[in-house]
Amino acid sequence: MAAHRIESGTEVRLVDVDPDATDGWDDGKKAARARLAKLRGKLADLQHLLWADGRHRLLVVLQAMDSGGKDGTIRNVFEGVNPQGVRVASFKAPTSTELSHDYLWRVHEKMPAAGEIVVFNRSHYEDVLVVRVLDLVPQERWERRYEHINAFEQMLADEGTTILKFYLHISREEQAERFRSRLDNPKKRWKFNAADLDHRRRWDDYMTAFEAVLSRTSTPDAPWFVVPANHKWYRDLVVAETLIETLEGLDLRYPSAEPGIEEIVVT
Ligand code: ATP
Ligand code: MG
Repeated sequence: MAAHRIESGTEVRLVDVDPDATDGWDDGKKAARARLAKLRGKLADLQHLLWADGRHRLLVVLQAMDSGGKDGTIRNVFEGVNPQGVRVASFKAPTSTELSHDYLWRVHEKMPAAGEIVVFNRSHYEDVLVVRVLDLVPQERWERRYEHINAFEQMLADEGTTILKFYLHISREEQAERFRSRLDNPKKRWKFNAADLDHRRRWDDYMTAFEAVLSRTSTPDAPWFVVPANHKWYRDLVVAETLIETLEGLDLRYPSAEPGIEEIVVT
């Protein structure tokens, strides 16, 4: 899974990344789903340990084009985890109050506390994605944001937050398929938003904006992972495996029990 990690300083070209890839996984969808079920159990155990250990925080950022699978990833990967230890924060177009502050204000307060996992469904990266593509602020302002974001994330990391960022990479054709199936399915139709088509028309501009994000904000302490996401089962595996590898690398421990606990007899 480390294969999908963007090393700091790499110039990312998304045309070189195959959204259909399922590298290293040839056993097919059914086996992948079985593997994911096992990983969910492991993730639940690790989250319990993260909470008990209480020294670390984990931030998971998800970014993608519309229908890229942010919601599905959250559902599939975190299904087995205790809801008390995980929080999802979704970032929509900013309210007038949010706009009256700097763009990191609304993000900072949603960060994980000790022992918590927080998943960002969209994030401060919208402020260099949609904002850049739609010219919502002048270029001289969004240009400086890559540096702000790197400094902000470095501060979080220095203070004990582990950060993982995933870009779920689907193809333009796959998005068309997913939009059509949303329109055809009465249970999914409500998810379709006419504005999604405006974003779709600017696909190439979005790819350029994502390439800038991936090339300029993947750092040793806050790396990006580009996840081939046309196959949902592969996408879920990559995200789950990466979370587990990361949590396993944290040297989490259950706190030692109170002294003398062996002698206690409950009557
Ligand atoms: P869903 O799966 O429900 O469609 P979603 O994340 O696409 O989930 P929407 O309400 O459809 O949710 O879209 C949120 C919109 O808010 C996106 O178009 C996104 O680009 C926009 N947005 C998020 N952050 C910002 C921001 N900082 N500035 C401007 N627009 C933003
Ligand atoms: Mg949407």
